[in-house]
Amino acid sequence: MSGWETVIGLEIHAQLATRSKIFSGASTAYGAEPNTQACAVDLGLPGVLPVLNHEAVNMAIRFGVAIDAEIDHRSVFARKNYFYPDLPKGYQISQFELPIVGKGHISISLTEGEHREIGITRAHLEEDAGKSIHDQFPEQSGIDLNRAGTPLLEIVSEPDMRSAREAVAYARKIHSLVRYLEICDGNMQEGSFRCDANVSVRRFGDDQLGTRAELKNINSFRFLERAINFEVERQIELIEDGGRVVQETRLYDSQRDETRSMRSKEEANDYRYFPDPDLLPVQISDQDIASIRAQLPELPEQKKQRYIDDFGLSNYNAELLSSNRDTALYFEAALVESPQLSTPLVNWILGDLAGALNKAGLEISVAPITPIMLSQLITRIDDNTISGKIAKQVFEAMWQGEGSVDAIIEARGLKQITDSGAIETLIDDVITANPEQVEQFRAGKEKVLGFFVGQVMQQSRGKANPAQVNAILRDKLK
Ligand code: ADP
Ligand code: MG
Repeated sequence: MSGWETVIGLEIHAQLATRSKIFSGASTAYGAEPNTQACAVDLGLPGVLPVLNHEAVNMAIRFGVAIDAEIDHRSVFARKNYFYPDLPKGYQISQFELPIVGKGHISISLTEGEHREIGITRAHLEEDAGKSIHDQFPEQSGIDLNRAGTPLLEIVSEPDMRSAREAVAYARKIHSLVRYLEICDGNMQEGSFRCDANVSVRRFGDDQLGTRAELKNINSFRFLERAINFEVERQIELIEDGGRVVQETRLYDSQRDETRSMRSKEEANDYRYFPDPDLLPVQISDQDIASIRAQLPELPEQKKQRYIDDFGLSNYNAELLSSNRDTALYFEAALVESPQLSTPLVNWILGDLAGALNKAGLEISVAPITPIMLSQLITRIDDNTISGKIAKQVFEAMWQGEGSVDAIIEARGLKQITDSGAIETLIDDVITANPEQVEQFRAGKEKVLGFFVGQVMQQSRGKANPAQVNAILRDKLK
């Protein structure tokens, strides 16, 4: 594979989180009975007129200002004509020459501290199509038009990515951003956030781009990476065997982990785009843009920097905490309770909590341990009520729903022993019971100390304060 350069550009479709559709009042809620949420406008019945959803426009502008893009003051909806059973009108209302969001850019982080700027060509508003269902009826396909007319923001990148890893980092970044902006719920399983990857290869040093294939049907970041890697290999082998890549749309099959040809690629002029005569151009004033800009929330990049500056987090941890909005909200909610304990808090969130969530397949927003419960746990370690080790037991019990930190410590008798008299008694017993090891220690075998610490901790059922045990043991053994 050496000598070849990969070139990738992504088209991301984000369903906008409006309650009603982009040109009608029908609901956008996911999961309803088929064909109960498509009204006359979504079906394009004769005599109906589309009315633009103002909120969808605001959301597109929010995205535009967040990526420092030019917002066009005048943007136009166009009809993209094609026939497909899930598109009853025979055309999709989209934008072509004058999209709402123009050129912008976003920075992605790769490994520790390494950044790359990725150009965004444009982002335009359009309506989603319905869905064809091929797996419910033996001899027929079903058509569900509930999705028809759901607002989409199509975000088109420049061909700036050079590896599957970079493409995934970019897609994750956009995913994180639209969730921060609260313009898309980001649910990839439900199709609220979809990626098409355009992939080509060329010899290093070539300044012309190679012919690309467009990969569709990718519904997770893992599959995005796999689909691109498969496709890159396929193209290189093809060219090295004397063949030629043809411009086409290819479907990714996650079960077989391969891409296969779906159709030859249309050119824009196949669609006979023209301005939709039913819709007026959208006029956006500087004032509209300024007021949306003023309402932007703190964005992942800014949060990350603040975490580094205020809490001394590493670049890596700050990125992990800030990239998922719900994780950041969790962290900040816990911090309110115990502002001085940011370091252990970060460790617990990214360590035990993340592990437990992962194992249970849960999102942090529905974690059975709330931010307040976690901060109380850390407070009890900090004030020496329990040791870090016992805290893991308490964490487990809280996860199982046994109650608050203090209730669990009380009920299970987990309070740490910090009374030095009590610890001394434990130590004396252990020393008396193990004369041989005492000899070894006195003969210079320092390692035996670990054995004694272990014995004492065991006798106290993990409750003796480990620092005190260490200090007193050393003293007594000498
Ligand atoms: P279309 O809308 O017909 O798919 P565009 O010209 O809008 O075509 O490009 C779509 C995407 O393909 C963009 O993200 C762009 O960066 C990417 N792209 C264009 N040419 C190439 C290429 N040769 N290799 C990889 N990606 C490309
Ligand atoms: Mg395309």
